[in-house]
Amino acid sequence: MKLVLATSNKGKVREIKELCSEYEVIPYGELIKEFEIVEDGDSFKENALIKARAVFKALGNKDVIVIADDSGISVDALDGDPGIYSARYGGINADDKDNLNKLMQNIKESGVSSSPAYYTAAIAIVTKNSEQSVHGWMYGTALCEARGEGGFGYDPMFIPLGFDKTLGELDAGVKKELSHRSKALDLALKIIKSIK
Ligand code: IMP
Repeated sequence: MKLVLATSNKGKVREIKELCSEYEVIPYGELIKEFEIVEDGDSFKENALIKARAVFKALGNKDVIVIADDSGISVDALDGDPGIYSARYGGINADDKDNLNKLMQNIKESGVSSSPAYYTAAIAIVTKNSEQSVHGWMYGTALCEARGEGGFGYDPMFIPLGFDKTLGELDAGVKKELSHRSKALDLALKIIKSIK
């Protein structure tokens, strides 16, 4: 069965394809025209379900598994911001770079140069028979400066626990091993394998 991804975020697509290499993973934009999905849930889980349901409905093909990832970073020094607002932190039309700059600036303005932080990923799995969701987390430190070019989004400012380099500097294999997304996908794959 095909795994259809309810995202157009290139970083997520790349990571999810690598982590689900035994499946045919297709971003929904390759099957139908991409459309706006209003993510107005109040949790990562709700927003992941909103995206997966919307794409499942739009596909009109009942024999697919749709998975959606809703994720973001929460910084202790900013009382957990940006959290579920990570994609829009730099403003309505902000791109990854705007969001990264805004977060580094706000950490600096809070009076610290780094802060404990963590990533959350919620993955929703929607089929004709069921809706399920799982979570994964990665803990570490958010910096007020960017280092390295690897990863995507907030990765150049995030040092995972146990390391002294950012995800922008570390080999991609490190993130593949311990990221919020890989932990959530490990659980999601157990569910997906049980779907007939
Ligand atoms: P979503 O598409 O609404 O889930 O937005 C997630 C936001 O968090 C985007 O701004 C992403 O760039 C960021 N984000 C999610 N996961 C990661 C990650 O693994 N690394 C860096 N940034 C991430």
